[in-house]
Amino acid sequence: MSQERRYSFEFFPTKTEAGHEKLMNVARQLATYNPDFFSCTYGAGGSTRDRTLNTVLQLDGEIKVPAAPHLSCVGDSKAELRDLLNLYKDAGIKRIVALRGDLPSGMGMASGELRYANELVSFIREETGDHFHIEVAAYPEMHPQARNFEDDIANFARKAKAGADSAITQYFFNADCYFYFVERVRKLGIEIPIVPGIMPITNYSKLARFSDACGAEIPRWVRKQLEAYGDDTDSIQAYGEQVITEMCERLLQGGAPGLHFYSMNQAEPSLAIWNNLKLPR
Ligand code: FAD
Repeated sequence: MSQERRYSFEFFPTKTEAGHEKLMNVARQLATYNPDFFSCTYGAGGSTRDRTLNTVLQLDGEIKVPAAPHLSCVGDSKAELRDLLNLYKDAGIKRIVALRGDLPSGMGMASGELRYANELVSFIREETGDHFHIEVAAYPEMHPQARNFEDDIANFARKAKAGADSAITQYFFNADCYFYFVERVRKLGIEIPIVPGIMPITNYSKLARFSDACGAEIPRWVRKQLEAYGDDTDSIQAYGEQVITEMCERLLQGGAPGLHFYSMNQAEPSLAIWNNLKLPR
């Protein structure tokens, strides 16, 4: 297995002190696997500004795993983004996940000065030069608002040309869509690593709702089996673990440059897959 592959875990900032403590305990457990980095999401419009900042600084400073904040541009002014970039830079943070973001319903139309993630990538480069390794989002099954697949990969290419170093995909349950996406992007001359985002399956109804919203397709054969388990969470988890492990095996065998786990602030579901795959520790 290539030494250059990278493995990472994503968290979301919690609302309560108890939730935060739990997150840090999960992070301590995951840190024993020596991941390349942790990342922490950002509520578009700045709703989690302080919580994301504090979580990232603690993951990086106390738990000692390099941590990458997500940063989205809709709803934030350039001045607000600049302040945050400087805070992260001064704290020694070296990686950032640059996104457009989705404003929560009720927050109205996007009011930021930057409309798309490629503009945010350019802004980060203008403001901070080469300080940050910039990650961007990729959508093997197409971003739900894209007009068509061709437009979406052209927009993805624009982010890479603006200065993104690598990408993390939206989660998916079909390895072929990842390989097809990568192949099509390479034909546009874009060579940045595109790391699959991996969502462990733990709860079917939540997953179905979430997948509808973000445009990730649950294949019929997986959906039908998960539905058949009803409330039997143990069976859902065991089956989900098997399906995702097999998909990750195919992804890695097919040349994926690493895996990024959407941990959902839990250790076991991601670690079960990590252990099944015998990933390096
Ligand atoms: P963009 O790349 O800007 O694309 C958005 C849409 O606009 C696409 O349909 C694209 O085709 C189109 N488009 C792009 N550029 C142009 C252009 N110049 N002209 C016309 N059309 C264009 N959301 C959060 O709020 N917080 C997070 O922390 C967060 N983390 C994420 C992490 C990952 C790995 C992923 C995959 C998604 C994450 N999201 C997060 C969700 C993301 O913000 C949404 O999917 C959002 O709708 C799009 O963000 P983007 O950066 O991909 O946008």
